[in-house]
Amino acid sequence: MPETTAEPKDVVTMDKIVALCKRRGFIFPSSEIYGGVGSTYDFGHYGVLLKGNVKAEWWRAMLSERDDIVAIDSAILQHPKVWEASGHLAGFTDPLVDCRACKQRFRADHLAELQCGRKPSKHPGETDECDLTDARDFNLMFETTIGPVKESGATAYLRPETAQGIFINFKNVLSFSRKKPPFGIAQIGKSFRNEITPGNFIFRTREFEQMEMEFFVPPADAQDWFEHWLKERELWYVNLGIRPDHLRLRAHDPDELSHYSSGTSDVEYLFPIGWSELEGIANRGDFDLSAHAEHSGEKLEYFDQQTGERYVPHVIEPAAGADRATLAFLVDAYDEELVEREGMGKGERRTVLRLHPRLAPVKAAVLPLVAKEGQPDLAREVHRAVRERVQCEYDEGGAIGRRYRRQDEIGTPFCLTIDHESLQDRTVTLRDRDSLAQERLAIEDLAQEIERRVNAPWKTPKLG
Ligand code: ATP
Repeated sequence: MPETTAEPKDVVTMDKIVALCKRRGFIFPSSEIYGGVGSTYDFGHYGVLLKGNVKAEWWRAMLSERDDIVAIDSAILQHPKVWEASGHLAGFTDPLVDCRACKQRFRADHLAELQCGRKPSKHPGETDECDLTDARDFNLMFETTIGPVKESGATAYLRPETAQGIFINFKNVLSFSRKKPPFGIAQIGKSFRNEITPGNFIFRTREFEQMEMEFFVPPADAQDWFEHWLKERELWYVNLGIRPDHLRLRAHDPDELSHYSSGTSDVEYLFPIGWSELEGIANRGDFDLSAHAEHSGEKLEYFDQQTGERYVPHVIEPAAGADRATLAFLVDAYDEELVEREGMGKGERRTVLRLHPRLAPVKAAVLPLVAKEGQPDLAREVHRAVRERVQCEYDEGGAIGRRYRRQDEIGTPFCLTIDHESLQDRTVTLRDRDSLAQERLAIEDLAQEIERRVNAPWKTPKLG
C-alpha cells in the first residue's frame, strides 16, 4: 500500500474550496465573461451531479424511507396576497446602512463581521472617514411585474422561501393524498432573496435552492414532533459523512425567535468562517394555516371523521439549503496528504475529496493503463457495464498518476485500472480513493460490486 502522511489538522479554507470548484468544474462565478453579477454562481458538470446527489438523499430521507410525507413542486410566482398573509411583505426585512464615504451598503446587524469599504482591516463605522446613515428596513423580496405592460401589470415577487407554496396547497394535498396528521409535504426549489451582504461563496447568495418540509401534526403532539425532527435532521448529515464534532444543534434565544415560532433550533456546521446555520427547524404552531385561511377565506383545517374533532394542525418545519449543504459536504470532505508512490515524487501532495460515495459526483472511473494494446477496448466494455448501475467515467489521457489525482479531486471513490494482465485474466485493479489500497477484482459482476460498495454504510476516514 502506498505510504501516506496525514496532515495534522484541518487544512481546508474557503479559498481552497473556491479554487478547487473552479479548477475541477464544480461551480463558477456567474456571467464571468461580463465581469460577474455579484454572488450568483453557475454549477458545472460535477457541481450538478454533487448537488443532485444531495437533493436525492434529501428526497430519499423524506419520501423513500418513510410513508408519511408527500412531494410538491409549487410555482415560483405566486399571488401577491400570499406574501401579505405570510408576513413577508411587511416584515421580511434586514436593517440596512449606507456609508456616504465609501458608497457601500452593509447589514446593520452584521457590521462586526464586515469589512470597511476603504480600510478592509477595519469594520464599517470604525474609521474616522466612515459616515454611516441610520439603519432602515430593507425588504429582501425581488419584485417583478406579471403582464406585458410594466405600468399596468400586477406586482409580483420571486418567492423568498418555498414553504408558502406548501401551505397554500394544504387543502389540495389533504383531499388527494389520503393522508391525515401527522403527515408532511416536502418541496425542493429555487428561492430568491435580495441579500444586502451576500458572500462566502455559495453560503449566502441571492438565488439558491431550498429543501423544505412542512409537517402537520395535532397541536398536542407538536413538541414531540419538533424533537423528533431535530434528531432526524442532525442524523441525516452525520449519516452522509459529516464529522459529528463539526455539527451542532443550537436553540434560538427567545429574542431571536421569529414572530410565528414557539421554538427554533439551527443545525450548525463549523465552516471555515466559524459555526454557521445549515438548516433551521421551527415549531411554527398554526400561524401559517391560520394566516392563509384568514386572507383567502378558505378553511384550512383538518376534520377527523372518527373523533368528530376539527382543528388547525400545527406545523414543524425543517428548512435546509441545498447549496449550503453542498458547501458543507465539500468543506468536510476536503483533505490534503503527502503521497509517496503512485508515480509521484517523494513528498508530493494530493488533494482529495473524501465524500460519502453516495454523494460523490462520479462513483467509478475506468482507466486503461496505456491507450493501446487492446486495453481501451476492454476498458470501454467495463465502462459500459459499470455506467448502467452508477455514474462512471472513462479516461485514457495522460499518465496514470495524473488521472488518479484528477479523480481524487472530484471525489471518485473507486478507480478501475485495466492493464496487460486484464486482457489475459479479465480482472481489473480497484483503487480505493481514501486508503489507496489496491485489489484485483474479476470483471464478471464488477458493476454489481461497485454498486454494493457505493451503498454500503460509510464513515469518513477523517475521523481516524
Ligand atoms: P440566515 O440566518 O443564514 O440568513 P435564515 O434563517 O434566514 O438564514 P431560513 O429562512 O431559515 O434561513 O432558510 C432555510 C435555509 O435556507 C437556511 O438554513 C439556509 O440553508 C438556506 N438559505 C437561506 N438563505 C440563503 C441564502 N441567501 N443563500 C443560500 N442559502 C440560504
